[in-house]
Amino acid sequence: MSVSSSYGAGSPAVTALKGVGAALSVKLERLGISTIQDLLFHLPTRYQDRTRIVPIGSLRPGDECVIQGTILASDIQMGRRRSLLCRIQDGTGTLTLRFFHFSAAQKNALAVGNELRCFSEVRPGPAGLEMVHPEYRASAADGLTPVEESLTPIYPMTEGLQQARVRTLVQQSLAWLETGSVSELLPESVRRQWRLPELKDSLIYLHAPPVDADQHLLLEGLHPAQRRLAFEELLAHHLTLLQLRHKVQEHGAPVLPPSQQLTEPFLAQLPFSLTNAQQRVSQEVSADLEKSIPMLRLVQGDVGSGKTMVAALAALQAVENGLQAAIMAPTEILAEQHFINFSQWMEPLGIKLAWLAGKVKGKQRVTQLAAIADGSAQIVIGTHALFQEEVRFYNLGLAVIDEQHRFGVHQRLSLREKGQDGKRSPHQLIMTATPIPRTLTMSAYADLDCSIIDELPPGRTPVNTVVIADSRRDQVVDRVRAACAEGRQVYWVCTLIEESEALQCQAAEVAETMLQELLPELRIALVHGRMKAKEKSEVMQRFKAAELDLLVATTVIEVGVDVPNASVMIIENPERLGLSQLHQLRGRVGRGSVESFCVLMYHAPLSKQGRERLAVVRETTDGFRIAEKDLELRGPGEILGTRQTGMMQFRIADLQRDSDLLSRVQQVATQLADQPVVMEAVVRRWLGHHDEYGHV
Ligand code: ADP
Ligand code: MG
Repeated sequence: MSVSSSYGAGSPAVTALKGVGAALSVKLERLGISTIQDLLFHLPTRYQDRTRIVPIGSLRPGDECVIQGTILASDIQMGRRRSLLCRIQDGTGTLTLRFFHFSAAQKNALAVGNELRCFSEVRPGPAGLEMVHPEYRASAADGLTPVEESLTPIYPMTEGLQQARVRTLVQQSLAWLETGSVSELLPESVRRQWRLPELKDSLIYLHAPPVDADQHLLLEGLHPAQRRLAFEELLAHHLTLLQLRHKVQEHGAPVLPPSQQLTEPFLAQLPFSLTNAQQRVSQEVSADLEKSIPMLRLVQGDVGSGKTMVAALAALQAVENGLQAAIMAPTEILAEQHFINFSQWMEPLGIKLAWLAGKVKGKQRVTQLAAIADGSAQIVIGTHALFQEEVRFYNLGLAVIDEQHRFGVHQRLSLREKGQDGKRSPHQLIMTATPIPRTLTMSAYADLDCSIIDELPPGRTPVNTVVIADSRRDQVVDRVRAACAEGRQVYWVCTLIEESEALQCQAAEVAETMLQELLPELRIALVHGRMKAKEKSEVMQRFKAAELDLLVATTVIEVGVDVPNASVMIIENPERLGLSQLHQLRGRVGRGSVESFCVLMYHAPLSKQGRERLAVVRETTDGFRIAEKDLELRGPGEILGTRQTGMMQFRIADLQRDSDLLSRVQQVATQLADQPVVMEAVVRRWLGHHDEYGHV
């Protein structure tokens, strides 16, 4: 992180403050603080009340407060641990002060008859209430030593740094703030309309709240001063995404009128007709493609809602207009599956396909690259290998990115360079694997237009989900035996242990051996992430061709495998997975017309929250509801994936808590549209240091 550029111009580095040398600035850096402005945005997590002296007689355990009194007794007690015990009284009651470590000087200061002021938490002790190692100082007998005038902030800390140290630095920064050096960026009209207090007032309030401040509100993060800062932070993120959109769109895109010839025969050869939702979304996409600015559209739809059809129709529109379309999938298995499907659909129409993934090597790779470069490949399917430097498109008109949460902002931008002559951007269609709660769409995907496929193809039978302890594994195995005897196919999924892929694969190997012993009559195979791509896809193909009854897998099958005859899925230790991930996995069954089952075989005991989470998956098959619940229970990272989460790190805002601010943020962003300088300054203040956005 660079030091001075951190929060834009105008904010000096912390080293400008008194007493900040190299050692201290390294520690501050660990807290993300490199400028004075950073310090001001380093908000307290809670406060202490040192503004009044509390009568000892009214103390209760757990109180954290200031008391003042006279020492009645001061004795060293020898017990299990040598300690100094002082009895202090103030006329309303007495209290014990307990010290385990003390110097001779301290013992003197704590001598009988001395007048003391102490601050600490009050705890129950063997002989009534006590304070253990309180902060203390001698107080004048007349009691005139002043108390604090405002609540005392407690800051998030790092090792080797004292609260008091940070407090003094913040005090200095506040003085600097008084000189007017932190500019108010939100126009008065905006502040008035949304009742947002001024930045300066908010900062002063939060670092030194008045005696009567509502501590509860502050703890919850709902005080107007906090909301003011959260608002500006959310606005900064939002504006960045809009800038990104602008950046992608400033190039212009090829105009692609709707397909006249290819669509009809394409649809005619399908064994089904499109759902209303697929038709509606395809029309939205088609209308975008006809414009001369690049489409930036996100298609959301539950697992199995038929997003691939939307992609195929868009690709046809590009091809019919003489441009190439690229379809990018996050894994080789999924890319290969798309390639097989698209080949079946497109080749009868005389459309040429190319296929590119990491495993496509040597001569084959050269051939594919050449076909992509000379335009003979009209639709190109692959993994992110597609966006490597060496891949030159002849005239890319459309890029479809399946499963957006693994696709970063940089990649979205780099696509621009893949467009025609680097002058016109390809249209971008992004399809998510998982439904995303509205709050997250509004914040993380503000740069995209959004379409939702809110309907599943007809004739699906919902998956019956049961939750069972792994102590009943025998019953589960019986069930698998019975299902396979009926000619069904079964997935047995082993989940992640401690984030280690190696261990996960090991667990899957163990499970496979066990199942082979228990079910010798079945044809069983294993697929996991450490196998070679070729081996993986061979196993998948055998499963798809019904040459296998049971597939033991790690979560690699999560995305995109389509085997309609597989109607039973056992998930071991489902409590380790996010809800959306479970839902995604479960979406692999229930693709045919027979009744399907998903068995969530947890390892007991399950926490209360764990039970609740699995119950959600059992009770609903609505991916949007599950995603909402996931957001509530595990936060945005779970749903957006790490790459996106990196961008979604907030200093002050909290997407859950502040979700109601998002629509206001959108409106204010629009209001500021004609004030580029203000927008730029807001972004720089909050995100100037952000690598992820840095190159935008
Ligand atoms: P996802 O949205 O999860 O990517 P897919 O595009 O893989 O879903 O579609 C899931 C399955 O549903 C595929 O087997 C596909 O052929 C089938 N499908 C897609 N659209 C329809 C439809 N309108 N009617 C019936 N089946 C459909
Ligand atoms: Mg899909």
